[in-house]
Amino acid sequence: MKNLDQRNQIIEYSLKLNSTNLSPLRSGNISLRGREDDIEGYLITPSGKKYETLKPEDIVFLGLNEDEKNNKVNKPSSEWRFHRDIYTNKKEAYAIVHAHSPHATAVSSHGKPIPPFHYMIALAGGDDIKCAEYATFGTEELSNNVIKALENRSACLMSNHGQVAFGKNLEDAFELAQEIENICHQYTIALKLGQPKILSFEEMKKVLDKAKSYKKG
Ligand code: 13P
Ligand code: ZN
Repeated sequence: MKNLDQRNQIIEYSLKLNSTNLSPLRSGNISLRGREDDIEGYLITPSGKKYETLKPEDIVFLGLNEDEKNNKVNKPSSEWRFHRDIYTNKKEAYAIVHAHSPHATAVSSHGKPIPPFHYMIALAGGDDIKCAEYATFGTEELSNNVIKALENRSACLMSNHGQVAFGKNLEDAFELAQEIENICHQYTIALKLGQPKILSFEEMKKVLDKAKSYKKG
């Protein structure tokens, strides 16, 4: 089977969506940039299948110029449009995790960006985490809204829906989605205590400069 390693990796991380409760059962989706027969594209989880039942052949390959309609074997995730548009717009994106994680989804229902109440906001690439405007799942409109919220960012919330994060591989994209969930959890607690103090633009500039030379273990 073509791209068997990548297909198995997608299944491994789909199962982690379940075991970590980041997006259990059938919610959310995962993709990995790839190529098949010299066509540039991505491998993506199928639509509406329980993660625990996934087999390598269920993972769908779509070319970057290809529509869902052209794929006759399996139905790709209903969100293939924003996965395609992220790969087209972000050369640094090699893997994408979309999750309905509980705290990110709760915060997303306010439809507002998360301000720098914690310096770790910088993980998404800037001094706030944007929230994509609401649009029906699976639509071109939702994809356009996501691309806008990801300007100079590698993660964003999706209003009344959840979150999306990308990275240079699945490990990084998944870790970032977990960090976004954790930040949203902390933000939820902070809001319960009243209005949190927000870090200044100058302080966040310092943090963002420092983050550039921060080495991961
Ligand atoms: P899919 O099963 O089609 O990927 O849908 C899940 C989802 O999260 C839609 O936004
Ligand atoms: Zn979703």
